[in-house]
Amino acid sequence: MNHSARQQAIALIQNRKIDLPVLPSEDIMDVFGSHVFSKKVMLHYLSQDIYRKLEKCMESGESLTRDIASPVANAIKAWAIDNGVTHFTHWFQPLTGLAAEKHESFLEISEGEPIYNFSGEELIQQEPDASSFPHGGLRSTFEARGYTAWDSSSPVFIFHTKYGKTLCIPTIFVSFRGEALDYKIPLLRSISLLDNAATKVCQIFDKQIQRVVPTLGMEQEFFLIDEAFFNLRPDLILTGRTLLGTSSAKDQQLADHYFGSIPERVYAFMNQIEHEAHKIGIPLKTRHNEVAPGQYECAPFFEEINVAIDHGLMLMDIMDRAARQHNFRTVFHEKPFSGINGSGKHNNWSLQSNTGRNLLSPGKVPKDNLMFLAFFTSVIRAVSEHSDLLRASIASAGNDQRLGGHEAPPPIISVFIGSELTRVLEEIVSPPRKKKANANNPYLKLGISKIPELFLDNTDRNRTSPFAFTGNKFEFRAVGASANSSNPMMVLNTIVADQLIKFDKLVRGKINRGRKKELAVLDAIKENVMASKSIRFEGDGYSPSWIQEARKRGLGHVETTPEALSSYLSTQSLKLFTSLKVFSESELRARYEVMLENYIAQVRIESNILNEIVSTQILPVAFSYEKELLENLQLHHQMDWEEDFIVEGKEMVKSLRVRIEDILRMLKDMQGEKERIEKMRSKQEIATAYAERIVPYLNKIRNQSDELEGILPDARWPLPKYREMLFIK
Ligand code: ADP
Ligand code: MG
Repeated sequence: MNHSARQQAIALIQNRKIDLPVLPSEDIMDVFGSHVFSKKVMLHYLSQDIYRKLEKCMESGESLTRDIASPVANAIKAWAIDNGVTHFTHWFQPLTGLAAEKHESFLEISEGEPIYNFSGEELIQQEPDASSFPHGGLRSTFEARGYTAWDSSSPVFIFHTKYGKTLCIPTIFVSFRGEALDYKIPLLRSISLLDNAATKVCQIFDKQIQRVVPTLGMEQEFFLIDEAFFNLRPDLILTGRTLLGTSSAKDQQLADHYFGSIPERVYAFMNQIEHEAHKIGIPLKTRHNEVAPGQYECAPFFEEINVAIDHGLMLMDIMDRAARQHNFRTVFHEKPFSGINGSGKHNNWSLQSNTGRNLLSPGKVPKDNLMFLAFFTSVIRAVSEHSDLLRASIASAGNDQRLGGHEAPPPIISVFIGSELTRVLEEIVSPPRKKKANANNPYLKLGISKIPELFLDNTDRNRTSPFAFTGNKFEFRAVGASANSSNPMMVLNTIVADQLIKFDKLVRGKINRGRKKELAVLDAIKENVMASKSIRFEGDGYSPSWIQEARKRGLGHVETTPEALSSYLSTQSLKLFTSLKVFSESELRARYEVMLENYIAQVRIESNILNEIVSTQILPVAFSYEKELLENLQLHHQMDWEEDFIVEGKEMVKSLRVRIEDILRMLKDMQGEKERIEKMRSKQEIATAYAERIVPYLNKIRNQSDELEGILPDARWPLPKYREMLFIK
């Protein structure tokens, strides 16, 4: 019987041993980047001349010319073979959200003899037979070809698993007609767009600045569940979340897990992922227990955004593999367990100049603060004008479950900046009447005497904000734990670039008309502040009154993915993306289709597996227990008790029957509803119907099943319970 599987799992877990070395023996300094085709390695394997040409390509993001492709490919091959590598792969990010790879051996047969070969062509471009990746109609079958091409701004590395070493070449994935089929291309376009726009604004203040890159540090939250439990939960296996399960009597009420001491087996896992991550140059830095039992977080030091995102995806892969070696499974779903915290991937984002300056770090001298305020307020205004797009960028079936609950920001986009900066912005718009005289203060005469005194060690924390300024960066907290951050970061880069282009135009226009530079900048900052007032919110994002308040301010409160996604195709968004050349209209429409398809598939799978678990695991237990109770009642009946003596016993059978009937009816109705929905014509209609008509069934069926969990004998309950999955280690 099934219950014994559950008991066996518990017994197994109690006897688990940590059989991997707790601490790798090597020094971090030797390990870090040892598997990366780094500048140091390049200098060793390449001539000075080729190295310089390659370096130029890497910095500009241009593709490799044929003349250097061959020597570079040879150098990479030599380095890889010296390190015991046998295969290579173009590593890319199709719209499935996961990284994709197709391995090829270096092996070739020449005149009957095996040789190692790896050509310049193979380095630069491949044509994987990848016609099954989602494309949203961009690839009709006769033009189904897709190409991958090296993104030289992200370094080549060797991925080392227990069973082999593979040379990984980060690539873009593009259609025969040059349309983006992946997450990387639009991201790269947005990075270069933002570089141009931000550099121009910087040059108003500082001519030294020639280049600006966005930086990103991602905090990754996740759950670790023992594989013995995990394998007994078809819902976790197929959907990443538990579709059933009553809360544990104790979960996170005592907050005793948060920052608590890391359990030994988890500690061994963390050590291992750090070691693996460091080898390929991922600067993993922090690790700790999160709020929910069984939940953890790790975060690397921030990097240039493109590399940070590649690293984030690799890290998830490393974590998955390492978890298995420690008999765990990593769960990256946004809301794997109902009633306790879900998992996010906080995207800490800033802008850095080639002169090493963080543009979102308030400076000590007044001049720097003006530049800081230019960027700071432009970001806020960008979010204000395109909050619907930011909401769309984080939309997924998983995140729909998470947003608005337990330490997750609500599905209303707002910006938190802390009291000090709020005061500063308000004083820019309406300068205080009384100013302290300070002869050294060059801004006194401008009526903004307060600005130069801006000192920020902003320790303000508002966990309820989806988009918070945290001292020298913005933290986009609404991003889901399983997400590829390319999408939200592409949107953020694009809307900020758009705002900076407008800012630059406004300021230069004023200067050309004779306004003093500082005053022109201040005018533009003031405009930013006034235009974006409604997006700033310092209060509690969880409180019901915020929903009212947000409505009054005209902010969107979008609860489902299909509704959120429709913003991609609004007139405003289409104009934004196409005019700035981040997407062509057909690319954007195709992407929208793919995202809808993903959503539909996700919810469809959830409803199918819920149906299966309830029908084949839960109801059979309920039926047999009901039968027992009835037999029991029958026996009592024979005892000739007075009529009203066995009232509670009858009630118990009744409450069981009510739930069984309810579940059976809802399963049938859900099935009928699904059949009607599948006949609808457009993807948008289908997705919306799934959100509005199927998701509520998932919740209602779950509720009744969870009631049954509280009634049916524990020993016969087939699925590992919350208290077991979250607490038994
Ligand atoms: P928290 O208190 O939210 O955990 P931390 O200070 O630990 O915040 O930083 C979280 C992440 O923010 C880390 O990945 C860190 O490297 C990153 N971060 C710090 N400065 C920047 C920056 N200038 N740009 C991007 N990310 C940054
Ligand atoms: Mg943080």
